[in-house]
Amino acid sequence: MQNDVQTQTQQSVQPLHTEQTTCCIVGAGPAGAVLALLLARQGIPVVLLEEHMNFDRDCRGDTIHPSVLQIMDQLGLADRLLTIPHAEMHSMSLDASDGPFTLADFRRLKTRFPFIAMLPQVHFLEFITTEAKRYPNFRLVMGARVEKLLEEDGYIHGVRYRAQDGWHELRATLTVGADGRFSRVRKLVGFEPIQTAQSMDVLWFRLPRKANDPTEPAGRIGGGHILIMLNRDQDWQMGYVIPKGGYQKLRAAGLPALRREISQLLPTWAEPERMDTIQEWKQVSILSVESSRLPRWYRPGLLLIGDAAHVMSPVGGVGINYAIQDAVVAANVLTEPLKVGKIRLSDLAEVQRKRELPIRIIQGFQNFMQQRVIANVLVSVVNFNEPLKISPLMRFFIKLPLVGTLPARLIAFGPVQVHLKQ
Ligand SMILES: Cc1cc2nc3c(=O)[nH]c(=O)nc-3n(C[C@H](O)[C@H](O)[C@H](O)COP(=O)(O)OP(=O)(O)OC[C@H]3O[C@@H](n4cnc5c(N)ncnc54)[C@H](O)[C@@H]3O)c2cc1C
Repeated sequence: MQNDVQTQTQQSVQPLHTEQTTCCIVGAGPAGAVLALLLARQGIPVVLLEEHMNFDRDCRGDTIHPSVLQIMDQLGLADRLLTIPHAEMHSMSLDASDGPFTLADFRRLKTRFPFIAMLPQVHFLEFITTEAKRYPNFRLVMGARVEKLLEEDGYIHGVRYRAQDGWHELRATLTVGADGRFSRVRKLVGFEPIQTAQSMDVLWFRLPRKANDPTEPAGRIGGGHILIMLNRDQDWQMGYVIPKGGYQKLRAAGLPALRREISQLLPTWAEPERMDTIQEWKQVSILSVESSRLPRWYRPGLLLIGDAAHVMSPVGGVGINYAIQDAVVAANVLTEPLKVGKIRLSDLAEVQRKRELPIRIIQGFQNFMQQRVIANVLVSVVNFNEPLKISPLMRFFIKLPLVGTLPARLIAFGPVQVHLKQ
């Protein structure tokens, strides 16, 4: 028996066209696009639905971590991916008053890719979907907004989506919700994430990069704020960490006040040709920092992965990495069942079981950093002249061979390194 919502919908909206596939993936972000490629190369019929007409959304993070590069290498794609213009982040450091402090040095890791590639996400997604298109069993539909799930007898049998030419129905053995932090699929199945209170928000904007600027990312702390600078080749991607809810106050103070605050944190960059490029609030996006995870990622016929299953805080910039790792684990576990066209609930549960612990560990680490370190900075450092000092013990630990590489390993690979099975 179909559920009531679905029956009503069918009466009011007749689909234009009905199609059958094996795996329907909602959302062509990092998680959905990579999963689509991995299944397509196994010969599994896959349809990837993306609500936007292109991949060009600003400020979504451009970090391709060593673990993702290793997975690309397993696919024989890493060298080609790295021909796309990108910058390389070899370490994460802070300018403290008692000298620079390197929290994570990726060069100390045993990997062919001891760096985070700062590669525009739009190019990454275009690259992955272009690869997937080489397989005739893969189809990408852009401008396809999923609005309904097809549910019969408690089993999700696919989706109904709206495209430019009207409604379509896509029936599938498995539906994957990879539709990000505001997941529509998650809402449609009524799953409620467990939220952890967060004390900060982040403003994102760009500043021009000059030829003699450093290449490595950097961080500055002062005036109750943290400023992060990430090299995006032509520009700096700036992340300005503010206390939660502080955006309205900042906006009321106006853009000149924001430019002044940034200039105080970065006096050497205070020249008008750099700072005055921020002219309108629409150049500044606000990321409301969230950290949450679903108690359950699946229902019969449906799996949620990536931000749809767990929204990651920006601490360490690991959201893309973890979303792609979910995709790899989902492909490892589900390829064989999809080949025979039968997905059991226990297969879907296995994906969650394999991913849940790493997610909980990294979210715990992020929450610790946020509550113990970042929140203290935001609250207590109220004076721009107040120096940030790193304790000698911390400096000692970070130099140790094994313990000292822990932050770099956690950021680069996560608590568990994920490999592609086949
Ligand atoms: C401002 C900002 C900066 C960030 N910086 C970083 C960073 O530096 N490093 C990092 O690792 N992470 C960063 N993140 C987090 C990172 O973007 C996410 O963790 C990552 O993109 C999650 O990937 P995903 O594929 O699960 O979801 P998303 O990337 O959100 O992709 C979801 C896709 O689904 C599509 N979609 C949504 N609804 C529908 C629908 N109904 N029908 C069809 N399609 C739909 C969306 O258009 C989107 O393309 C940042 C996030 C933000 C907001």
